[in-house]
Amino acid sequence: MDKGSWSIIVHGGAKAISPSDAEAHRQGCARAAERGAEILARGGSAVDAARRAVAMLEDDPTFNAGHGSVANAAGDIEMDAGIMDGATLAIGAVAAVVRIHNPIDAAAAMLGEPPILLVGKGAERFAYKKGLRCTPPTGASTPPEKPGHDTVGCVARDRAGHIAAATSTGGIAGTLPGRVGDAPLPGCGFYADDKVGGVSLSGDGEAIARTLLGARIVRAMEDRRAALAAQDIHEPMQRLGAEAGVIAIDAAGRIGAAHNSENFAVAFGSSEKPVIISAIHQDEWKAVLPHD
Ligand code: ASP
Repeated sequence: MDKGSWSIIVHGGAKAISPSDAEAHRQGCARAAERGAEILARGGSAVDAARRAVAMLEDDPTFNAGHGSVANAAGDIEMDAGIMDGATLAIGAVAAVVRIHNPIDAAAAMLGEPPILLVGKGAERFAYKKGLRCTPPTGASTPPEKPGHDTVGCVARDRAGHIAAATSTGGIAGTLPGRVGDAPLPGCGFYADDKVGGVSLSGDGEAIARTLLGARIVRAMEDRRAALAAQDIHEPMQRLGAEAGVIAIDAAGRIGAAHNSENFAVAFGSSEKPVIISAIHQDEWKAVLPHD
């Protein structure tokens, strides 16, 4: 891609999507990608585009992040989020937070701070001091019987060639209180490095962390374009009998995505093809993002 080009991809979680929910997933992802694309098209930063796209997905009850998060075994919601600036390798993340309306905003506020990850009350106090909205997302607590899991995320590359990755989740329904998955862990649920590329993942958090899945895909982008590198989720997830989905953008701005879950809602666009494409299965985007 030329200098000055931009690209963006968002996801709404690796999971099964029923036909009646398909449209909400397509539209929710498309709206978030459009928001990020607007920022990138007018010269905004990848960090800003990724943060705002993920905040929109957090505000959409269709997705398990922010407003719409699933409940743990105690019937409470606990949210995790992480963001990385590929230009500086700055990382901001929060975990097991209850009283932060948009966890991704708290994670982004951490980017200039020495620690990379704050949990629980410490993270909530930090968000409060930063003037962020510190109420639980309205109606966030959904019944524990809400099935499965998912997560939202975004990878963006701006006109200056900087890459950012962001991930936010309500975790997996019915897990132990205090459980933290891959989403706020760099190299697991997200990672970005301008020199190589960026990723955001969703799926079985423990399996993603055990296999350092995010780091593997980033490593694969050292030699291969994003769409090919993304295929590297399959072998480790097959080994552990786990599910995952990944979105990726490489250093040249090329977009990739892969999943072994039943569905994976994504939306993407670039300065070359600014019309946002949204899809809920890789068969739909194979023609545009060829991976073989
Ligand atoms: N990876 C998230 C977690 O384990 C959940 C998901 O993406 O479905 O918390």
